[in-house]
Amino acid sequence: MKIIMYSVLPEEKPYVEAWSKKTGNEVTMLDVSLSTETVDLAKGYDGIDIQQTTNVHEPVVYEKLASFGLKQLTARMVGFEIINLQAATDNGLTVTNIAAYSPRAIAELGVTQAMRLIRQLGYFDQRMAEGNFLWHGMISQEIHNLTVGIIGAGHIGGASAQIYTALGAKVLAVDPSYNVELEPYLEYTDLDTVLTQSDIVSIHTPLQDDTVNIINADTLAKMKSTAYFINMARGGLVDTPALIKALQNHEIAGAALDTLADETEFFEQQVDPATVPDDYKTLKAMPNVMITPHSAFFTNTAIRNIVEIGLNDVVTLVNGGKSRNALN
Ligand code: NAD
Repeated sequence: MKIIMYSVLPEEKPYVEAWSKKTGNEVTMLDVSLSTETVDLAKGYDGIDIQQTTNVHEPVVYEKLASFGLKQLTARMVGFEIINLQAATDNGLTVTNIAAYSPRAIAELGVTQAMRLIRQLGYFDQRMAEGNFLWHGMISQEIHNLTVGIIGAGHIGGASAQIYTALGAKVLAVDPSYNVELEPYLEYTDLDTVLTQSDIVSIHTPLQDDTVNIINADTLAKMKSTAYFINMARGGLVDTPALIKALQNHEIAGAALDTLADETEFFEQQVDPATVPDDYKTLKAMPNVMITPHSAFFTNTAIRNIVEIGLNDVVTLVNGGKSRNALN
């Protein structure tokens, strides 16, 4: 079968080539993302596999894909808000995502950043760059004495809880769905308890109507002034101006962010540093804030899984089978 793959990263190519050789399917790899301008490139293919942060909401894209005889649209990513599911359904396209390609990848960056925060490494980096090699005033904490609060104990929140437990921390969690398998690693409680009791609050919910700005002036005010906030999930979960205010007013001790509400303007791009949004500039200048450019997922294990799960789904759906990753 012939498959077209949009926005292929250089790091994905060897895994795509290996999969193609192993399965005998032909894969054409493109650098561009799917859009009204590039949809025609999918003509003549049996299957399509995309990965991108830019929206593809125009119904015409789905109409064209259906007119080319395509039956599916595989998104090799977790979040699928960039896709117009209704338009896909209306045009008979089954959409799949990859709900869990390596939860550990994201969990491990969150824990890494939490460890950097509790050891005050941003402040030490700043001091040392200024020739200040004193440690006075920079006393740190040890993770095994701390309480970690997980908001959203799904794939990534659950993996984070397992790591924090292994490091000896106490883990609290809030999640409307109860997972008995996580019992050894966390204690379920409510949001207020997570916010008020935790030394590290790590959010891992999806971005949906009831979670937009779930971290806001009110919820930040409930956190300990010594607590750190970790967001490896979605920027829209956080009211960024409120977070900046809480940091400036020492209402919380620091934050690690892999996602920002306005990240599509500059993450995954090479830009003139002068043009980045002001919120980012303000946060980046704070030694108690760690920012990464939505790179938590970017490990070799995750990339291999993303490629293989996505392409296997394409084959399954094109052959008329069902995928457990189907969204419609
Ligand atoms: P998941 O669906 O496995 O888990 C999400 C959990 O949040 C579920 O258990 C759900 O019940 C819970 N939840 C929903 N609403 C809630 C609420 N109001 N309060 C508390 N819990 C709530 O998702 P996941 O795969 O663990 O992904 C978590 C987040 O990480 C998502 O936002 C996803 O988009 C993001 N993500 C980020 C990266 C990255 O590179 N930074 C990569 C993958 C995923």
